[in-house]
Amino acid sequence: MKSLEEVLRTWEAVIGLEIHAELTTLTTKMFCGCKLEFGAAPNTHTCPVCLGLPGALPVPNKAAIESIVLAGLATNCDIEKRSMFYRKNYMYPDMAKNFQTTQGPIAFCMRGHLDLNMTGAASRERIDIDDLEAGQTRGNVTKTQDGYCAHVGITRIHMEEDAGKMIHIGGDEGRISGATHSLVDYNRAGTPLIELVTEPDLRTPEEARAFMQNLRRIYLAIGISDCSMEEGSLRCDGNISLRRRGEKTFGTKTELKNMNSFKNLHDGLAFEICRQAEVLENGGVIHQETRHWDPSAKCTIVMRVKETADDYRLFPEPDLAPYDLTDEFIESVRAKMPELPDAKVNRFKNDYALSTYDAESLVNDIRLSSLFENCMAYQASPAQAKGVANILINEVALLFADDESHLPAAISPERISSLVQMLQEETISSKQGKEVFAAMVAEDKDPRIIVDERNMKQVSDTGAIEGVVDEVISSHPDEAARYKEGNVKLMGFFVGECMKRMRGAGNPKLINEIVARKLNE
Ligand code: ADP
Ligand code: ZN
Ligand code: MG
Repeated sequence: MKSLEEVLRTWEAVIGLEIHAELTTLTTKMFCGCKLEFGAAPNTHTCPVCLGLPGALPVPNKAAIESIVLAGLATNCDIEKRSMFYRKNYMYPDMAKNFQTTQGPIAFCMRGHLDLNMTGAASRERIDIDDLEAGQTRGNVTKTQDGYCAHVGITRIHMEEDAGKMIHIGGDEGRISGATHSLVDYNRAGTPLIELVTEPDLRTPEEARAFMQNLRRIYLAIGISDCSMEEGSLRCDGNISLRRRGEKTFGTKTELKNMNSFKNLHDGLAFEICRQAEVLENGGVIHQETRHWDPSAKCTIVMRVKETADDYRLFPEPDLAPYDLTDEFIESVRAKMPELPDAKVNRFKNDYALSTYDAESLVNDIRLSSLFENCMAYQASPAQAKGVANILINEVALLFADDESHLPAAISPERISSLVQMLQEETISSKQGKEVFAAMVAEDKDPRIIVDERNMKQVSDTGAIEGVVDEVISSHPDEAARYKEGNVKLMGFFVGECMKRMRGAGNPKLINEIVARKLNE
């Protein structure tokens, strides 16, 4: 199979996402008063409504409608004042009603968009805009100084409910094949769920990942879900097709399931792009089917051929009246809107002169962005912002094993500030900074105490450095001669040797200056 880079030279990928979020921050289900609780004993949170017993009548959860309207406003959607619920009929024991209550052609939220700032390595998967200058636009993309911005349409966000959970006993790894019987837990049945559908506007796996990251940070900021991809409260299906570059019509798409992490989302789409290219280049056709991404086998497997909307006999739910939203209601929701991540990115860029990459990296992780704000509030001057951002992005972020990990107690704004201060005053070198950071976390001590204890101060004493430089040059006469003959790359070798002898404590700026001077004497 060809590499993604190679495939994307001749093929254009077209990607649209369908993203489900459970409204985990609510207390009750979508159409009944049953409690929402993850991990409760099976079938302890059920009632005639969520079990679909005859005669039971649903009542919509107002708090859930508030959540979806908040989500719509936060993603630039139009809020539809009148929408309806529909029945999506299917026969499977995970929903005792034999239908899922969902929405029809008009959802609460329609026609939204997100603008994705693509920078650094993530921007390089896109190769069709290399000829543009910063500020120039082609299609839905505008080139920027450090990458590009992609405008991605959101078709709709609709309200629906989750199904129950099935457990298959006796089969392989809990799968249905080979199972002797199945158990069902209806605690999750009726959990409020919102589904966002994007336009087919995404063109690379990195854009898909960025969309998901942006959406997740928005949902977390507005507090409607815990957005755990691992536990399935945020789930993403990817629709993907290929067309030859320059072609106008879309190709046949496949739908990819089980992309339960940002990495799986990227890698699953990347694999599927390469697989489709191989099929098409060998004269084959793509079948519209649902496929499953297997991250350990690193391939996608067919799950089923596509059902159509007709198969579900979608029809208006007779037990629920059309839902009318008043202006007052919409405005009362808008009034609860906190600062959104995009606004935070811009504020970090404007107030602290951070790059887009740094600001996005911080805002993508609420733990980092709030630590950053706490550091800046703690006597850190705006001039320290870049230093603080570097430590947070390059060191602190690595300490989080997953989305749920907490900030280690050893890290405080006060300690980060004093570490940054020592780096900026060149009391310690950047290499020593890494060591101090690691020791601070391991030993739960103030960075200044660590520096004192380990006698780690950076050596900025010109005389001492000159002595080391002299030693290094005289013990490498061949290299020195080659340098003088014009091999200027050897400069790095001498600087490295000096650093080694000073065990990383030498001031790199001074070493560079002195090595250059002495070699040119
Ligand atoms: P379906 O009827 O199969 O559910 P939809 O038109 O409702 O398809 O679209 C579902 C998702 O698939 C949307 O996110 C949409 O943007 C995306 N999509 C539609 N057509 C294509 C295509 N040819 N290639 C890639 N994605 C597509
Ligand atoms: Zn119930
Ligand atoms: Mg559809």
